[in-house]
Amino acid sequence: MNSEVIYQKLLEMFPDAGCELNYQSDYHLIVAVVLSAQTTDIAVNRVTEVLFKEYPDVYSLAKADSKDVERIIKSIGLYKNKSKNIISLSKAIVERFDARVPDNYKELITLDGVGRKTANVVLSELFKVPAIAVDTHVNRVSKRLGLADKNDSTIEVEEKLKIKFKKEYWSKLHHLMIHFGRYKCFARNPICENCPFIGICQKEKLN
Ligand code: SF4
Repeated sequence: MNSEVIYQKLLEMFPDAGCELNYQSDYHLIVAVVLSAQTTDIAVNRVTEVLFKEYPDVYSLAKADSKDVERIIKSIGLYKNKSKNIISLSKAIVERFDARVPDNYKELITLDGVGRKTANVVLSELFKVPAIAVDTHVNRVSKRLGLADKNDSTIEVEEKLKIKFKKEYWSKLHHLMIHFGRYKCFARNPICENCPFIGICQKEKLN
């Protein structure tokens, strides 16, 4: 099955696949993405609803006390580090970037808590730059569909996907794979019945 067919089959399954983090500004999005590391989007949306009421813009979060932020986000994983990171990145955005989220990879990754995956999500979602962010779902699904090898790092997975899929597909592909991993191709007990990829699935070889 070639990559075009894989893309079209994913698209048939999840035509509306998109970002499931709630946000209304560039500041909201970058904070939500940083908070989403090793946490579900549902859990992040629950805390950001309160967080963004308390700190509605980047200026207010830049001045926040870490303990106060911790209290709001403590239901999500790694909340102490995430609290420090979102305050620090807010300060940096205010001081170094005129209160605007940078629109390029080089500057984004200078912000605390922002790595390759977060930068790619921000670039793709806010600035419509073609990008593939490899999270746990994209990594697993890519390997099960034979698009990457078992021991590939997330960077290697990203590079392989970029070679195999047209550039105009990259951002949507990222969402399609996340949806497929989140709602069907679970890490444990995936729903394999009627899966269109059953003939190419590498799951058994990866175990
Ligand atoms: S057959 Fe099962 S494990 Fe394989 S890709 Fe489909 S849902 Fe995932």
